[in-house]
Amino acid sequence: MTTDLTPPSSPVLTDALEQLAEAVDLLGLGEGVRRTLAQPRREVTVSIPLRRDDGSVEVLTGHRVQHNLTRGPAKGGVRFSADVTLDEVRALAMWMTWKCALVDVPYGGGKGGVRFDPTQYSRAEVERATRRYTSEIAPLIGPDRDIPAPDLGTDEQVMAWMMDTYSTGAGHTELGVVTGKPLALGGSLGRQTATSRGVTHVALAALASRGIAARGSRAAVQGFGKVGRYTARFLDEAGVRVIAVSDQHGAVVDGAGLDVPALEAHVDATGSVVGFACSEPLQAKDDLLTLPVDLLVPAAVEGVIHADNADRVLARVVVEGANGPTTRQADAILADRGVLVVPDILANAGGVVVSYFEWVQANQAFWWSEAEVEERLATRMSLAWDRTTEVAAKHDVSLRSAATGLAVGAVAEAHRLRGLYP
Ligand code: NAD
Repeated sequence: MTTDLTPPSSPVLTDALEQLAEAVDLLGLGEGVRRTLAQPRREVTVSIPLRRDDGSVEVLTGHRVQHNLTRGPAKGGVRFSADVTLDEVRALAMWMTWKCALVDVPYGGGKGGVRFDPTQYSRAEVERATRRYTSEIAPLIGPDRDIPAPDLGTDEQVMAWMMDTYSTGAGHTELGVVTGKPLALGGSLGRQTATSRGVTHVALAALASRGIAARGSRAAVQGFGKVGRYTARFLDEAGVRVIAVSDQHGAVVDGAGLDVPALEAHVDATGSVVGFACSEPLQAKDDLLTLPVDLLVPAAVEGVIHADNADRVLARVVVEGANGPTTRQADAILADRGVLVVPDILANAGGVVVSYFEWVQANQAFWWSEAEVEERLATRMSLAWDRTTEVAAKHDVSLRSAATGLAVGAVAEAHRLRGLYP
């Protein structure tokens, strides 16, 4: 396959470009469309000089990529992680374009990242890094240009600092510049749990589509952060036995089903799932991926299901809470083995749907009840699930091919209607 970028250094970007090429072929859209959509529309790399608490200065690197702006402003999270690379951010921005198109929110795709592990820095240092990053990317972002949100390693406090920094520069308060803000600062009810609500919604639909009753079925959840934690909670509330969870420090298992509320209390007290009293530790945390369960929800990082472990995944349904947790090779292996994979751009789209609701509310300065937010979210997730499964059945393709095809088709149509300037 040819690409117009320098060859990707990240397997995640290679996978994203191959998914795009497959969708373009499926839709018969031609090389010009593929080339246009393979390239980010705009991107910036910034240096972030950070004064450490001991007075020394360290220089961090940050990125913001706007993959596509054709259907509206760029939308996508900011991650703080020691592993962030520009190619990874490019891939994640491209997936945001498809996700927004698939659930029909009027945005293009964007993503940002700063290469550092925030857990190794004081809160004051994280605040200074956030504020300098925001001021460096300020010319690119704005409520009608590009709207960041939380992702790996960032939270609603980081969003509050971003909003404050941007607003201070603008000279007035701009609530719509970021989403995932605290409620007291124009956040939306239901945003914190939106991604997990959406993951749970499609997970229950996917189990039902395979004839598996949710009540009493067994699930494993990788990652216990903003996505994994609430997914475990909602699955538990739906009667699914969550038998194993993990975080970056380790994994715990209880074949009879973990006591999820007690586990949440343990994590609040200790910062990790490790050491949870009513469970056994798993020797290697990635063993969670190959447990005998009905449902596996990878909700941590990219590339965790790969060519070397895909044939040992015993789950009948994999629902991608994380972005890009299954490599292209693993996808093919799972498909051959009849494992149903619900792709990230569908499974975790609840976050961007309620981010959109938050932006709408902030722009109108009129807020909705939690019930209204959740009802509208459920409607959109159901619609996206129905459209994707219909296309997959009609063309006998995977849910990922169907979802990507639907999204790429919508973005290509927007390009066609706008025409090529000049
Ligand atoms: P987070 O930082 O809140 O949580 C990440 C969790 O993963 C933590 O519990 C961390 O300990 C754990 N983890 C990290 N490396 C791990 C490993 N190797 N094995 C097991 N656990 C590991 O991040 P988050 O917001 O929950 O995001 C998780 C994933 O979901 C990312 O891929 C992100 O892009 C995606 N996502 C997030 C949202 C959102 O609304 N936050 C929306 C859509 C997609």
